[in-house]
Amino acid sequence: MRAVKSKHTSPELTVRGLLRKKKIKFKTYANLPGLPDIILSDKKTVIRVMGCFWHGHACKRGSRMPKTNVRYWSAKIARNKTRDKGNRAALKKLGWRVVDVWECRLKKADWAVKIVKKLNG
Ligand SMILES: [Zn+2]
Repeated sequence: MRAVKSKHTSPELTVRGLLRKKKIKFKTYANLPGLPDIILSDKKTVIRVMGCFWHGHACKRGSRMPKTNVRYWSAKIARNKTRDKGNRAALKKLGWRVVDVWECRLKKADWAVKIVKKLNG
């Protein structure tokens, strides 16, 4: 039987699965700027799971533009980036630590170790 490919699981679920495994308590909803995906109230930390394309990551996937409607997509992504930045600043102002997890990082072998380290650090 073939292993389930990671591209079929949503990145957010992957991260949540890790937290459960590590017994790190989290919520999936809090009325905070940008409605972050995962909230760790104990650590006053939020995790934002970011799709590389939608949030304009500086990686291969993030810089690949669709062939059509380039203007539309680049404007949309630019708006998302501005919004992400604003939300990060607003969260910090409220005393939250913001950990962004990029979709492409989840493909690296050591992603889980790195996130856990970051959360505990
Ligand atoms: Zn990326």
